[in-house]
Amino acid sequence: MSDPHRDAREFDLIERIRRRVHSRDDVVLGIGDDAALLQVPAGRWLVVAADTLNAGVHFPEDTAPADVGWKSLAVNLSDLAAMGAEPAWCTLSLSLPGGDAHWVDGFLDGFLELAHAHRVALVGGDTTRGPLSISVTVHGFVAPNRALRREAACVGDDVWVSGTLGDAAGALAQWRAGSLRDAFLRARLDRPTPRLALGAALADVANACIDVSDGLLADLAHVARASGVGARVELDRLPASDALRAAFDDATRHAWQATGGDDYELCFTAASQMREEIERIARETGTPVARIGRIEAGEGVRAVDALGAPWESAQVGYQHFA
Ligand code: ADP
Ligand code: MG
Repeated sequence: MSDPHRDAREFDLIERIRRRVHSRDDVVLGIGDDAALLQVPAGRWLVVAADTLNAGVHFPEDTAPADVGWKSLAVNLSDLAAMGAEPAWCTLSLSLPGGDAHWVDGFLDGFLELAHAHRVALVGGDTTRGPLSISVTVHGFVAPNRALRREAACVGDDVWVSGTLGDAAGALAQWRAGSLRDAFLRARLDRPTPRLALGAALADVANACIDVSDGLLADLAHVARASGVGARVELDRLPASDALRAAFDDATRHAWQATGGDDYELCFTAASQMREEIERIARETGTPVARIGRIEAGEGVRAVDALGAPWESAQVGYQHFA
């Protein structure tokens, strides 16, 4: 697109990015031409996901550039993890208020650290002037008909979740209140862990899967609706970090765990015969998992307390932090 404000500095920024990226054998042509040329492996399906992060909406304005870089890729890799896919390539569209090379260098520190850890090659993108906004597209592969889809939950399935829930929402609450900030919780908000090894291993074992971006109950409701089933979740079974337990009373903690967003853990359903296999996968991938409920006939998601009584939180869904 023609852009009257485009100047030499934007080409400098692209060159800064190009110098630092690692390639892969299946990248025929990466950054530098009008488009990238990529070799999709024979017999596998291409999986594509995109997500945008806007300053002041999806991350606090005071977030370190390296954390913005990490998170902008992590939320996208999390979508591939939730499909059971293996990531390969990504593109990066940056809208920057100024041609700030220092900010871009910091951003790349976090972005490329995560990209290199998962052998993801940055193969192209776009660099423009505008309000701070980062759009990433990721591409990966999955065996034909093996992707974990939201519509595949079955009545009688166990409901599982990885890691711990509510940490990111707890960090955001502390940030908003200007209270003492817990570094562990803040790291869970700024540097979510995409559960790629778990997702890929679950492709043959789980039925439905989603990543928890908007809050457990809201995201599980997407699975239930798509699958034409209901779900029951036991509040006491939701995994919590020690840091979250220490920072909030039980009622507040339960609200963050059930409805807080930005956790990027995987919530998945699987037949009860798969329990041992799932525990084995959890050990092998080094990813803790917890069994938190059941898929049932009907519709909607019910959260119940230790006595089986319905639990209602004042807060429904997660509004990011805007
Ligand atoms: P065009 O005008 O043909 O779109 P650009 O000047 O925008 O070309 O981009 C030149 C090359 O740099 C392209 O290969 C493009 O994919 C790449 N590129 C531009 N911005 C970025 C970015 N932020 N990250 C990675 N690659 C980028
Ligand atoms: Mg362009």
